[in-house]
Amino acid sequence: MRYNLNIMVYLDYAATVPLLPEVREAMRKAEEKFFANASALHTPGHLAMNEVEKTRELLAKLINAEPEEIIFTSGASESNNTVIRTFEGCQIETSPLEHHSIIEAARVYASDKLPKLYSYMLANNETGEILDLDEIRKKATKIQAPASSGLFEAKNDWGKPLVTERRGAYLHSDLTQALGKIPIDVKRLGLDYATFSAHKIGGPVGVGALYVRKGVPLKPLIIGGNQENKRRGGTYNTVGIVGFGVALEKVLHEKSWEIYDLEVRKLRDNLAWRILNEIPGSSLNTDLGYGKSLPNILNASFRAAEGESIQLYLDAEGVVVSTGSACAAGDTKPSHVLMAKTGDAEVAHSSIRFSFGTDNTEADIEKVMAVLPGIIDRLQKISTIKM
Ligand code: PMP
Repeated sequence: MRYNLNIMVYLDYAATVPLLPEVREAMRKAEEKFFANASALHTPGHLAMNEVEKTRELLAKLINAEPEEIIFTSGASESNNTVIRTFEGCQIETSPLEHHSIIEAARVYASDKLPKLYSYMLANNETGEILDLDEIRKKATKIQAPASSGLFEAKNDWGKPLVTERRGAYLHSDLTQALGKIPIDVKRLGLDYATFSAHKIGGPVGVGALYVRKGVPLKPLIIGGNQENKRRGGTYNTVGIVGFGVALEKVLHEKSWEIYDLEVRKLRDNLAWRILNEIPGSSLNTDLGYGKSLPNILNASFRAAEGESIQLYLDAEGVVVSTGSACAAGDTKPSHVLMAKTGDAEVAHSSIRFSFGTDNTEADIEKVMAVLPGIIDRLQKISTIKM
């Protein structure tokens, strides 16, 4: 057991995965060894850049991309914003289940011109739902390329157009929650852009990546530096990128998606059945069917019990969960994801997300089920809502 997770039951892995011990150790060493600016032409600079490139190759290998198609960012929110802003003034269609960094950015930048951007996450962070991207891709390929668009006019230093494929529509997917939990192949998914974040796989917070397929448009969000082939300015976060690399190595080496599929799924499903059987008024917002959801997320609602109250009572018992999305914490509006899925504010307000990691055990489920039925019973008894 890591940290003092042994004194609590941590079931909030979808919000963040605690830094892996091997990541922390590698980052500590990298702070000493790879301190130089990775863009510098001297030897320490080259050594730092080498480490950056190692992580780039690992991520490319894991998702079936080319290393040149990976850009490092400060996290998934930045990656999402970069793609959405690239399509400023264009039509942008997103699923209603997207993270706020897609929905809010699309609200700011979308207009009506072609090309059109489709942004559909592969797996949702609140319910774990896996979306069918095939349908979206089919729709996207039917749209004709526009005769002209500002998106296509950028040229490289030799005057060649940076965009080699003019298309009527492009497809982006936020793969933040999917990475490491299910196999990912950006070619097979037919993606033009994909978003990743290190802290959802045990790497550091503040590091992410964006997959940009060769030949598609990209407007840098951060300009003013030549880093990442002028696609993202700013000095390389070498230490963070090293940490991301170690977390990726573990995913690749252990084929972590198999551990999630075989072991974590069992825990998740066990908790789901026990909740349904042992807690009156409970219902699931996650479809447990194979391929329907990520194996590590369970979202459940408890009639006549408020999500925030359940979370606080569980917290007092050392059980850490979240209500809806942690990014929306402090926001008393019902989760937009659950509202889109159920249309029922009561279901949304009474929901809890249990999200698992590879460290969880059956004993954790026992601990949850030792306290959860009593908490729900107490809340239901004082509720004005009839059971
Ligand atoms: N997209 C999804 C699906 C997420 O779950 C999150 C994290 N809650 C983000 C984007 C934002 O990630 P980051 O913290 O790296 O900006």
